[in-house]
Amino acid sequence: MRLLEAIIDANHRAAAGDQNAGLHPDDFADELPVVALTCIDARLNRLFPAVLGVPEEKFIWLRNSGNIIFDPMSSMTRTLALACAIKDGREIAIIGHTDCLVCKTTTMQLLERFKELGVERQVLPDNINEFFGLFSSERQNVITSCDIVRRSPLIGPKIPVHGLLVDIETGKLEWIVNGYQAWGTMSDKWNEVVRSAGETVDKLKSLTDFNMGEMKFPETKIGETVTKAEDWLSQKIGALQTKPGEPSPVEAAPSPVTNIAAQVVHYAEKHWPKPSASSKPPPKIPLPPPIRVRANFPPRGKK
Ligand SMILES: [Zn+2]
Repeated sequence: MRLLEAIIDANHRAAAGDQNAGLHPDDFADELPVVALTCIDARLNRLFPAVLGVPEEKFIWLRNSGNIIFDPMSSMTRTLALACAIKDGREIAIIGHTDCLVCKTTTMQLLERFKELGVERQVLPDNINEFFGLFSSERQNVITSCDIVRRSPLIGPKIPVHGLLVDIETGKLEWIVNGYQAWGTMSDKWNEVVRSAGETVDKLKSLTDFNMGEMKFPETKIGETVTKAEDWLSQKIGALQTKPGEPSPVEAAPSPVTNIAAQVVHYAEKHWPKPSASSKPPPKIPLPPPIRVRANFPPRGKK
């Protein structure tokens, strides 16, 4: 079980009333600290990091109004990048919350509030929604933010980017964007790109123009990707070399197809090495004492 899977599992058990639901941080030494971006809503102060069940020293907490990511190169994205590069953050979680006022406040209400604070309309930009990142769905905002962070060149392919929504009353978490799966999706896209390169040598050549440095893939999937790319290119090369009735390839000058295959494989192996056996430890039997996950606070409908 990976970090977020364990967090969600423990959180849901705690929400269901399991007093012993918890996490053993030692089991996830390679996946902590977690870097979290949440809203500034003060009601969240007592929820984190308890609802995640991670120790405070392994919880890097970033906040802004509405947990909004504006841009792949924005100041918040830069902070996330440094949190991983300098503070050793291993996984990112964008955590929205229910009943978010950034979501519930209308443009007119916001202008009214500003006016009360002495901020006149003319000093504000025309596109006030866009400027402040107002959104109409907490869920969609989390998805969008995750997407922007995932696409940021500042966030390396080794960092999973998850999206969560926390119930501000109960502390129960909903896992909206699975950062582990997003890796798989990117790997699939890569395979599509490789396949769609086409049937001919000319089209294969386009692989050399393709800027592979822009693609990000998970370590855990790259072994598979490399193998598939190798198989696919080998088949293409084989087909080209054994077509009956056609003149055999000129033997001088190395085959461009072989070169391309070698480049693809070399690049993939260099940038996304096959995972070592120790990179994904098997689930361990929990050892006491765990960090207790606290959910259901305050108990809804109970006193
Ligand atoms: Zn909020």
